[in-house]
Amino acid sequence: MIEKKPWMSWIFFVNIVIVLAIVAFVVFYSSREHEAGLTEERNQFTNMIIAMERITTNYLEHEQHICNIWANFINDKDATPEEAMDYIRLTQSGYDEGSAHIIFPDDLTIIGLSSEADVGNPANFGVSYRGYDLFKEIRNQDLASSEVRVTRAFTNPKNGATSLAFYRGVDINYQGAKRKALLLRIVPISKISQRWVLPTEKYEDAEISLIDGKGNYMIKGSSFKNSSFLEFYKSYNSTDYTAVNELEQEIMSGAGSFIMNDAQGRKCLIAHSPVDTSNGWAILGYIPADRLYTDSIDWTLVLVVAAAIVILMIIDVGVLIFYNKELANTALEADYANKSKSDFVSNMSHEIRTPITAILGMNELIRRESVNEIVLGYAANIQKAGESLLGIISDILDFSKIEAGRMEIIPVTFASEDLIRDLHNLIRFRAEGKGLSIEWKIDPDLPKKFTGDELKVKQIISNLLTNAVKYTEEGGVTVEIRAGEKNDKLTDLYVAVTDTGIGIKPEEMDKLFSAFDRLDAKRTRTIEGTGLGLSIVTRMLDLMGSKLEVESTYDVGSKFFFTLKLEIADPTPIGQYDPETAENTAGGGDYKSTAFTAPGMSVLIVDDTPMNLQVIEGLLRRTQMKVDTAASGAECIEKVADNDYNMIFLDYRMPYMNGIETLHRIREDYGEKIRHVPIISLTASAVSGDRERMLEAGFTDYLTKPINVAEMEAMMIKYLPADAVNLQERAGKEEEAEHRNEEVDKLPEALKNLGILDIQAGLDYCGDAEDYLYALETYEKSVDEKADIISANLESGDFESFTLNVHSLKSTSLAIGARELFQRAKDLEAAGKEEDAEVCRRDLPELISLYKELGESLKRILD
Ligand code: ADP
Repeated sequence: MIEKKPWMSWIFFVNIVIVLAIVAFVVFYSSREHEAGLTEERNQFTNMIIAMERITTNYLEHEQHICNIWANFINDKDATPEEAMDYIRLTQSGYDEGSAHIIFPDDLTIIGLSSEADVGNPANFGVSYRGYDLFKEIRNQDLASSEVRVTRAFTNPKNGATSLAFYRGVDINYQGAKRKALLLRIVPISKISQRWVLPTEKYEDAEISLIDGKGNYMIKGSSFKNSSFLEFYKSYNSTDYTAVNELEQEIMSGAGSFIMNDAQGRKCLIAHSPVDTSNGWAILGYIPADRLYTDSIDWTLVLVVAAAIVILMIIDVGVLIFYNKELANTALEADYANKSKSDFVSNMSHEIRTPITAILGMNELIRRESVNEIVLGYAANIQKAGESLLGIISDILDFSKIEAGRMEIIPVTFASEDLIRDLHNLIRFRAEGKGLSIEWKIDPDLPKKFTGDELKVKQIISNLLTNAVKYTEEGGVTVEIRAGEKNDKLTDLYVAVTDTGIGIKPEEMDKLFSAFDRLDAKRTRTIEGTGLGLSIVTRMLDLMGSKLEVESTYDVGSKFFFTLKLEIADPTPIGQYDPETAENTAGGGDYKSTAFTAPGMSVLIVDDTPMNLQVIEGLLRRTQMKVDTAASGAECIEKVADNDYNMIFLDYRMPYMNGIETLHRIREDYGEKIRHVPIISLTASAVSGDRERMLEAGFTDYLTKPINVAEMEAMMIKYLPADAVNLQERAGKEEEAEHRNEEVDKLPEALKNLGILDIQAGLDYCGDAEDYLYALETYEKSVDEKADIISANLESGDFESFTLNVHSLKSTSLAIGARELFQRAKDLEAAGKEEDAEVCRRDLPELISLYKELGESLKRILD
């Protein structure tokens, strides 16, 4: 049966959790990467702004350098303003943008000369800086300083462009005397921005500005708003005074970057780098933050991937659930089919057992009633084959019962001695037959009695023993039984069966316990077996919480062993015990079959198999009881109505009306009449729950089928009135001898003196004097006729008929105890088989004369 596992309903949620975990990881990972990427991009952008700053600084230094060259020329050459201008014009030809001026700051009009002519009057090179703020600053400068300074943009008085001014003081020869003058170089501020380049498309939206120490723009990118950067920052970010102050300091103190809001409220990155040569100038780079990092977390992608995984999961789980259902259904069907098969096999085996037991029973009757040795030979073969078939069927029945889960443990109290003795009796003939030794190593501390499923324990050990003998050709089998760990109630029973047989190949070990598998096919092909024994053993042990273990060496031998927990029923130690020596004392009982007669008693046996009835009837004949039979519930009711029975055996499984129904009907209708009559149920063997059901249903006791007559007789002895039963213990050897003597006494004296007859043997064969005399009579009547036929057979050379008739003479002679005749007939039979005419002719006359002589003596005595 396929059961739904509790985790199955969780699997969907587990999947959801896994998917969420994957998505969370993707988000976490990509945002971390995104952060790292952003930092990287920020650094790159800042580095680029630093590079722009380097370009700017280089340019400023370059311009300062030119100013110095000019100033040095003027100072060194003591040049007049005109000479200076000529020189400047000459050297600045490469610098077409911008102009140079020499002006006199001490003159309040701040006039001087320019390197470029006035646009409106090409002959005029004079300049006037009256009113320019530039000179407010410059006046304060030390004109003696040889350092070239640069100041922020002012409009060039010559062309009106926003410009930078580089300046330093020079001594000029003015009308023969030295006069302090200012050398100015004015360049459009665009000369700086022209040098700025922002590579790659990525920086398309980037802008660069140049600010002075107060944050005022000198070069202003279009995204930079307000008149000063600090104002811009205040307008769109923070008006906090300290924050603005800190920002100002940060910008001027070194290169770096920060994120702020731009005029559109977007995040933007500002990178900054102070310009080296100026006091407080700085380059600012601006770029919208989203341009910087195009690989930002793509939420759509994350969502799509997550959704795809979820859909995939739902589809997968759906498909899995669908196929699981299919599989579960198929497994259920298979399970059902398997169970039906097991049930079928179990029922079939049961059904087969019934006719086989009937056959064996019939055969038993033949064996008892026939004196013909040919027939007895056939009957012996039937018995052998029937028992073997019954064994196989029992194995299959056991196996299918285990398969169908219908095997149950039935605990009883049993004596260890009985168990061991039974096992010994079971195996010793087989072992002796193969010339194998059996050694029993019984632990003297083994408790005397146990409570457990004796039958199964016996079946397990006997299976191992049978295998050990089956698969061993030389040497022997050792059985070790000992008590293991013990407490007051329980003990471990350790059993090991070791043989010196064919052993098992290591590679075949794992097939050992699988049903229907037989190993080493080449060697075991000729050994009878179904391959079920060991799987039954393992499953029975499993039912009892134990396990079969094997150690085996190929070609050397095997050891099968297990440890079983059993309840102790009597803790007295068994002491020294060996079934081989104990057999004669304790084992005697096994050869006794309790026989009894109960004349005057009458029993009814109800079973729907007529053959069973016939067998039971036949076997019970010697009890001298009146045995009635009924083949159905209805017939049983009729018989009960018309007769008084002392005991009733009622089959449980019958068509139309089963045993329980029949019981209820007779109890209802004839309650008073059968009140004291024991009614025994005949039930299918040990099927789970049947026993309890029978006793509950009101049966006095139960017997398992197939019926064993000895058990049936024991049941009769138990329930029939004691004074009606005459017990005869047959088999104690002395009693038997006594019985035989009594029978001998009944024979005519003359017969006893007839040397040619062994009357003891004859009585043994025929049972009692009456039957023996009857057998002798029959024998005597056929002597003449048989003698003639045999002689005629030989004469006509019909060896086949000759042998057959001599054989018959041989068996009948043995049955009446005519040993010599038997021996001669046996020899002649052999010669007949060989068609040895010479020997036959030589020996037949003597046989015939002996035969006739016996015939005549018998005729005389019996008449
Ligand atoms: P079966 O004897 O009816 O074939 P079992 O289930 O009892 O079936 O045993 C299965 C197989 O295991 C046997 O066919 C045989 O090959 C192997 N086997 C069992 N017992 C022994 C043993 N004592 N020695 C060697 N081989 C064994």
